[in-house]
Formats: sequence, C-alpha cells, structure tokens
Amino acid sequence: MTFRCSQCGKTSEASASVDGDIECPHCGTRLQLPSMLEKAKPAPNPMVLPVVMATSDTPELAQEKVKDLQETRKQRGEDRASNGIGALGFALGLATLLFLFSAAAVRKEMPIYLVFASCISVPASLFALVFSVMGLLRLGRSKIFSLLGVLIAGFLVVAAIPAAFLALRQGN
Ligand SMILES: [Zn+2]
Repeated sequence: MTFRCSQCGKTSEASASVDGDIECPHCGTRLQLPSMLEKAKPAPNPMVLPVVMATSDTPELAQEKVKDLQETRKQRGEDRASNGIGALGFALGLATLLFLFSAAAVRKEMPIYLVFASCISVPASLFALVFSVMGLLRLGRSKIFSLLGVLIAGFLVVAAIPAAFLALRQGN
C-alpha cells in the first residue's frame, strides 16, 4: 500500500506488520494505520449505535434524534423525581405541626393562640393527609415526601391535635 509519512513527508510503499503498524522506510517512524485508529476510537455514546443502524437517516439527522431521545429521557426522569402534590402535603403537615407546637409552648401566656392554632390545625392536617395520600398514589413518582407527609398528618390527627384540645380543656 502507498502512504505518506507524517514524520518526513515522503510517499512510500509498505505493507502492514502483524500489529497493524507500518514503518516508514525513509525515517523508520512507526505509523499506525488510519483504519486501526478508526477502530481504536471508542463510540461517543452507546445509544447512538442502535438508532443509526435502525434508520437510513443521515448521520446528522440520526444524531439529532439521539439528542432528542436523551432530552426526552432526561425530562421524564425529572418529572418522575418530582412529586408536587406529595411535597405540598408534606410541607403543609410540617408547617401545621410546627405551628401547633409553637402555640402549645406559649399556651400559658397566650391561650387564645392555642385555640386558634388547634382550630386551624384540623382542616390543615386533613388537607396535608389528602395531598400526601394523593402523592403516594401517583405512579412512578418519588414517594419519600408523600410518605413523610402521611406520617406527619397522621400524627397530627391521631395525637397532636387531640393533645392540643385536651390541653385547652384542662386550661379552662
Ligand atoms: Zn518517514
């Protein structure tokens, strides 16, 4: 085969050796064959291969499709990771719990504040429970906040709110 040496610039005839290299007869530089270089290069993305083989698109179009596919998958992943309603239930439950606890802490000084907090806590914790359960029921979504929301709202309904009302009755 004929090749041009990149070291000395001379064109010469040579045959490839066992390891795929050729040696320049002028300067003795060992040169890798372009085809071997091509093979040694790793595929830029393993996802490119099936798409390119399945369609007869130009490489540019195929690459565009791969990019679109990657973007779609990324968005789907983000969508799956977020669970707005579950997070809302968790946030509402946590806020209600903190509100109730702070009101209970100052009930000696401000009993009316605990009355207010207890009354607000009933619908707020019920909403928190409903939102959290809705978040839990959503398929394929992150459930950690929904689960925490259910736990907090459940604690509010079962323990914290009855305790607050009991404290109010004892205070009177
Ligand atoms: Zn050479």
